[in-house]
Amino acid sequence: MIRELLTKQNIEFAERAREVAERHIRPIAAQHDVEQTYPWSAQRAIKEAGLSGVWVPKEYGEKKWNTGGAVASYNTIFAVTQPGRGARGISAFVVEAGTAGYRVGKHEDKMGIRCVPVVEIHLEDCRVPKENLLGGTEGSGFKHAMMTLDLARPGVAAQALGLAQGALDLAIEYTGKRKQFGQSINSFQGIQWMLADMATHIEAARHLVYTAARAADARAKNVSKLSAMCKLFATDVAMMVTTNAVQLFGGYGYCKDFPIEKYMRDAKITQIYEGTNQIQRLVIARAILREAASSAE
Ligand SMILES: Cc1cc2nc3c(=O)[nH]c(=O)nc-3n(C[C@H](O)[C@H](O)[C@H](O)COP(=O)(O)OP(=O)(O)OC[C@H]3O[C@@H](n4cnc5c(N)ncnc54)[C@H](O)[C@@H]3O)c2cc1C
Repeated sequence: MIRELLTKQNIEFAERAREVAERHIRPIAAQHDVEQTYPWSAQRAIKEAGLSGVWVPKEYGEKKWNTGGAVASYNTIFAVTQPGRGARGISAFVVEAGTAGYRVGKHEDKMGIRCVPVVEIHLEDCRVPKENLLGGTEGSGFKHAMMTLDLARPGVAAQALGLAQGALDLAIEYTGKRKQFGQSINSFQGIQWMLADMATHIEAARHLVYTAARAADARAKNVSKLSAMCKLFATDVAMMVTTNAVQLFGGYGYCKDFPIEKYMRDAKITQIYEGTNQIQRLVIARAILREAASSAE
């Protein structure tokens, strides 16, 4: 990204995030991946650095976790409260962990993001006070879910972007050191072209992610379309880049001796959660067709 295009606050956040990642996440990532244990020390460091839930407006405080169900203090639960009204019959509630009738069930055994617990949550006769109804109005849950996705999708896209950039950095380092036929493999044109394509895709993804994030901050009208576009593009780029990075490591890319295979495993989920990339295409197509129809009126 061209640094001059960022605000002072953007740069400050990015630098703080990099510092936390280098000091508190990179050294323990492989260990937690193997053990499938939640990295509490990393979570504390992220929180202490003020990076937890940065997109949540200040007045709502503490970060809502979804995927981290087993470690969340608060959960947003969507329930049908008015059957027969379709999407308008869904309401959203804040349910605190520990509420009677709330139980964490099976922990999924996953391909990637192995240190983040993804769990079943069981609700049996779980009663919550009516103050916990989100937005204060029954039947507005679906609307809230869609609005949440508009803000959360750039977050997943940023996750994918970081994965892609990290994988490229490792690939550049490795191809500079690895020698074949008497020279570093990054002196071969075939390797240089792969690196160039990876870097170009990452840069394009970065611009789209930043644009969508700015549109979300500005509550822009077309935020749903941009959020879906950045999620779709950045996560497809992450999958392409991490797969190519594994390729550039040759046989070692396929082994756990090097961290690169983890990037590929972690990238895959970004194409699936927060709405699969097929669903992002539906959102984008509907938005552009709607725009075309309204401009034809
Ligand atoms: C590790 C992990 C963490 C998760 N965390 C959360 C979470 O925190 N909160 C949460 O709510 N959910 C979470 N999910 C659920 C996730 O969002 C869903 O798995 C995902 O949206 C896909 O839904 P599905 O599994 O029902 O797939 P399906 O809907 O069964 O889709 C199967 C395939 O069909 C395609 N497909 C479906 N409908 C269409 C269509 N109309 N047009 C074209 N293709 C279509 C899909 O893209 C996919 O390729 C998580 C899932 C995983 C694996």
